[in-house]
Amino acid sequence: MIPNSTAARDVAYLLHPYTNLSAHRESGPLVISRGKGIHVYDEEGREYIEGLAGLWCAGLGFDQERLVEAASRQMRQLPFYHAFGGKVPDVLVDLAEALMAIAPKPLERALFVNSGSEANDLAVKIAWYVNNALGRPEKKKIIARRKAYHGVTVMSGSLTGLAYAQDGFDLPVSRVVHVDTPHHYHGAEPDESEEDYATRLAEQLEATIQAEGPETVAAFIAEPVMGAGGVIVPPRTYFEKVQAVLRRHDVLFIADEVICGFGRTGNWFGCDTFGIRPDIMTVAKQLSAGFLPIAATLVSGPVYEALVAGSDKHGMFGHGNTYGGHPVAAAVALETLKIYHEMDIVGRVRRVGTALQEGLRRYIDHPLVGEVRGLGLIAGVELVADKASRTNFDKARGIGAGLVRRAQAHGLLTRAMPGDLIGFCPPMIIDEAGVAEMLRRFDVALEESWSALRE
Ligand code: PLP
Repeated sequence: MIPNSTAARDVAYLLHPYTNLSAHRESGPLVISRGKGIHVYDEEGREYIEGLAGLWCAGLGFDQERLVEAASRQMRQLPFYHAFGGKVPDVLVDLAEALMAIAPKPLERALFVNSGSEANDLAVKIAWYVNNALGRPEKKKIIARRKAYHGVTVMSGSLTGLAYAQDGFDLPVSRVVHVDTPHHYHGAEPDESEEDYATRLAEQLEATIQAEGPETVAAFIAEPVMGAGGVIVPPRTYFEKVQAVLRRHDVLFIADEVICGFGRTGNWFGCDTFGIRPDIMTVAKQLSAGFLPIAATLVSGPVYEALVAGSDKHGMFGHGNTYGGHPVAAAVALETLKIYHEMDIVGRVRRVGTALQEGLRRYIDHPLVGEVRGLGLIAGVELVADKASRTNFDKARGIGAGLVRRAQAHGLLTRAMPGDLIGFCPPMIIDEAGVAEMLRRFDVALEESWSALRE
């Protein structure tokens, strides 16, 4: 590393999130210094397609003058205010109304926070508060799924079902139970149909609730399409069957729409795609197209009424953050939603998503590729050592990570997830030509990886 370069100063001063710290000390970072459209540029001016929209969030790409204007307008007008104790910045009301106009039924109200992790943490607190208010203090366990990603706070990190987010942190905490991931490719028995597999998972969920005691289970949390766990699309009828089980045992459904929300799956929300009627829902990331941190936890009418009852009992609803619903972030989110409407984001994702899904499915016959999955503008390609037995490569070989490094060298940024899953979640402003170029760069990296393996 060149002394005093940005990379050298990074190694000297930054503690990096989700990074192998000793390897990073040796290699240093890729320094990104600007962005435009679906591209970002490093310090030397090299251009990359951001194949994962940063962290699944930069839905409108890396320059949007209207969002810059919305932020600076709001900064001039009212740079800070809060919603504590009955006050409110006007822009937050506008945002709540705009969000409710598209939110799945039966959601009615939103509380704004700063990140997806906080939103999920709050969802759990709400489930607990509701059950206390309803006089059933023992109904507190939360069922999540293995491979899920719900964040990093002590509770959302506990809901997460990925070892790398828990190892060393003494997570998960008690009251969290994990059930199987609905991934037909790896989880189904030979010849088991998607429908039968979904039925089996719903039965398994019911057995878990029975074993734990339905009177102890408060909520079930799920991403409609799992993101960081490996872009896992459930069987079509999975959520319908799961919801029937939850209804039977009076268990709340918390939908984590932090990745799927705002058009990504070809509907406003993943809940719309899979017929989910959530009691609580969390959103973040694309709510502001990644331009500023803002997130929200949305609740249904009955959940809200229970919160009111709890607030009467305790004297107030005792939750809030200084920056939750920050007016500048709210103004940016409001403008983001306007842009999504104007560009018909749902129609656009369906159209361009078809190009992405069809383009990637051409790789299904490639000797390195086990499964191609996804919908709308989110997709994944899973690399396998043996196609017949669906066996992944030994993790230590870092085959997916190697492909990602090669893709970076060819101007495509993406990520390898557990099981050598290469993820695609580009900014939703990408067009068919952008998809074709992204796949061309992926293609070169895939062929290089395949050649290297045969050497
Ligand atoms: N939920 C899902 C589905 C996510 O993908 C993420 C982040 O990637 C989170 C929650 C946590 O959000 P944040 O990183 O904003 O805390």
